[in-house]
Amino acid sequence: MDQDVTTLFESWNEELKLYQLKAIPRILFETERPGFYGTDILEYMMNMRMSEECDRLLYLKGRTWGDIVFEIVTLGIFVGVGLKLELQGAVEGNTNTRGYIKAKYISTIQLLFTSPNSTLVHEGYHLLGCGHQLFMKECYERIRDVKLLLTDPDRDPNFFPVINSTGKKILKRPN
Ligand SMILES: [Zn+2]
Repeated sequence: MDQDVTTLFESWNEELKLYQLKAIPRILFETERPGFYGTDILEYMMNMRMSEECDRLLYLKGRTWGDIVFEIVTLGIFVGVGLKLELQGAVEGNTNTRGYIKAKYISTIQLLFTSPNSTLVHEGYHLLGCGHQLFMKECYERIRDVKLLLTDPDRDPNFFPVINSTGKKILKRPN
């Protein structure tokens, strides 16, 4: 696996330990960028079928080589959200299970302000159901609520649940 990707997920998992969660990336395939805009990528992701073994779909937007799509087998999350990172990635608010980040950056100027690691942390929060709360307390509570869904009898036992941006429980893999 690409060293940058390994580093990216090691960084995220370091934080996910706080929630006793772990994200395991699995490469699905490499693909050409589906469009120029972030919305093009999200739309592409919305139409992708989520396979049985995975809980979230994350698209890692590359720099020089072809863009890559990854499958996250188990999901995690983390702390320390920056609010100006949105342009570096996004997560759709319909099911909060699909998103993308820029995995590699062109400019060193950008690296001074943000990094792929912190972007994944930010978008990772969305993948666990968090919005753009001003206080992390609400996000912690949301993650707690999501984890409580693990005992919900209606949950697909092979799917890590989430709560979407409007508060709806997502208990099954959205296809
Ligand atoms: Zn965000």
